[in-house]
Amino acid sequence: MEKENSDCLSNDTKLLHEPYPAKDAYNSLNMPIYHAVAYDFETAAQMELAFTGKSPEHVYSRISNPAVQYFEKRVKTVTNAAEVMSFNSGMAAIANTLMTVAYSGSNIVTSPHLFGNTYSFFASTLKDFGVETRFCDLTKPDDVKSNIDKNTCALFLEIITNPQMEVADLCLLSNICKECGIPLIADTTIIPFTAFHAADFGVNIEVVSSTKYISGGATSLGGLVIDYDSFDWQHSKKLNYLTNQSKLSAFSAKMRMEIYRNFGACMTPQVAYMQTLGLETLSVRYERAVKTCKNLVEKISKLSNISSVNYPSLPNHPYYDVSRRQFGEYAGAMFTFDLASREAAFRFIDNLKLIRRATNLFDNKTLAIHPASTIFGTFTEETRKSMDISQNTIRISAGLESMDDLYNDMVQAMAK
Ligand SMILES: *Cc1c(COP(=O)(O)O)cnc(C)c1O
Repeated sequence: MEKENSDCLSNDTKLLHEPYPAKDAYNSLNMPIYHAVAYDFETAAQMELAFTGKSPEHVYSRISNPAVQYFEKRVKTVTNAAEVMSFNSGMAAIANTLMTVAYSGSNIVTSPHLFGNTYSFFASTLKDFGVETRFCDLTKPDDVKSNIDKNTCALFLEIITNPQMEVADLCLLSNICKECGIPLIADTTIIPFTAFHAADFGVNIEVVSSTKYISGGATSLGGLVIDYDSFDWQHSKKLNYLTNQSKLSAFSAKMRMEIYRNFGACMTPQVAYMQTLGLETLSVRYERAVKTCKNLVEKISKLSNISSVNYPSLPNHPYYDVSRRQFGEYAGAMFTFDLASREAAFRFIDNLKLIRRATNLFDNKTLAIHPASTIFGTFTEETRKSMDISQNTIRISAGLESMDDLYNDMVQAMAK
């Protein structure tokens, strides 16, 4: 791709034709997988330059690898981010992000409506290192403000919580963050960045489980941290020492040069290859899955044995307006619905013939799960209550099958 052309191209096009950082010896059209741990140098002086970060050569694949770097470069192109770092899972991306901003004595403000392992990371893992997590109601600005103090290191949220389907009002929450001088960190896994540009709504750092939409049919685990260089880290007690050269890139500097290397949760080159391919078809798959999801939701809402359907793109949904404003017509390809009881929910799941009984989201296949007994199965009933996890709820992640086949499967599973 000629450099002069690239600015007027759409992101879908740019993504497909992203140039390699170095010319491939065989003109391979796909980025080769560099299945290498270490890299050879000609002189000691060149080694010194590379190892001390004064020249860009790769030195060791836990720190950087050409295939992984190419995947990050492509994500950078579609998101217009300042820095992108990839990890071996979404949880690694979340844990490394919080390890970069939090410190003993600091606190994180968030909602109890969180992905189960994220909740456990905050409530248990970080707690043991002296980091407090304040779970509050993110739909109540006063509750959020009263939980923030001088030791708050971040506001963390999921843009649409799962399975509650609470939509974060990002403009409102990012304004609170600006007032208080704290970064807004958002888990945007549920809507891919090709469809929703979180930075436009005040998100400073985006974390993504690339296991989901990006991997391209559940091929591999992966995670991304996307930094827009939009937060002034002079406000951070922990990172302000890094702001001499640049006030904005202190987070990425700390993560890239220290946290990422020391935790060693780097993405592997094979995964980078698979997820680069996934990225190429991401927007096409997403368009198909969200249309199927919305049509399915509209059709099953009319069934009498369903007590409620939860999808923010339905006009009667409590977060319809904010969802529409932020995400447009489609609030992702996942929804939940309630049946009369836990027994009815189990019966429905057992009766499915086409839809698969599995966790995970945004596989090419449609998946069903009973969150209360699985993802949240080891939590106490009290914790489940505080997280609004009901025994009657079923979660569906829409895949790429024909909508009619999915609808018929759900109807027959309910009829029995
Ligand atoms: C799956 C998921 C994660 C964790 O990602 P892994 O890749 O499984 O580690 C985090 N947040 C959300 C919203 C998820 O759906």
